[in-house]
Amino acid sequence: MIVPKSLLYRTAHFFKSTGQTIRYQIINRNISSQLKTKEDMLPGPTIIRECPHCGIQMKQKTIISGNTFGATLWSDGKQVAPMLPRPPYYICCKMCRNIIMLQDVRKVAEIEWNERDEKYSKAAFIEFPTFMENIRATEVISDKKLARTMTMYSYNDFSRDHKEDAITPEIQKLHEHNIYELESLLDKSIPEDLIIKAHYCPINLLDSQLTSISI
Ligand SMILES: [Zn+2]
Repeated sequence: MIVPKSLLYRTAHFFKSTGQTIRYQIINRNISSQLKTKEDMLPGPTIIRECPHCGIQMKQKTIISGNTFGATLWSDGKQVAPMLPRPPYYICCKMCRNIIMLQDVRKVAEIEWNERDEKYSKAAFIEFPTFMENIRATEVISDKKLARTMTMYSYNDFSRDHKEDAITPEIQKLHEHNIYELESLLDKSIPEDLIIKAHYCPINLLDSQLTSISI
């Protein structure tokens, strides 16, 4: 199936990068196909994890079930679903600053969401890495495409969150290098990769790229 151009209907920003005009499209498209009620998100247990490097404990909220009510799909491929939150793939430990895949942060306990958690009251909830932490992740996470994609999302979050003022020249430079490296990792046979490619390719290449996308 050809990806309809209507998916890319709203051009919100233009960024100059390495001499080219890069089209930064934002889709503000509700992708909910099965509209449910907000009550459909059921909280699950809170998982207590422990950093394998420094031993600090951290908490992770979970859900038993959720839905895409009010979800937004952005043209860089990121889906933001308030009723279906997903944990980060990797975290930056607040104590030792190591970047660790979440699956490698050992689960040491589980408490029901409505239980008192005095024993773990000092443990902080895990957070998504910042842009600079994502940049570090591109060096240490073995799945380079994952880390560079998350770094791209993190940079685009500045726009999503209306915090463009926080983009320093250093961040801009790191972002451009990240996109350059990410493009070399993308696989043309994977639709999600082509969406990212289309997101960043110059305008005059966009149409020819899209006509070759099939999913
Ligand atoms: Zn640690």
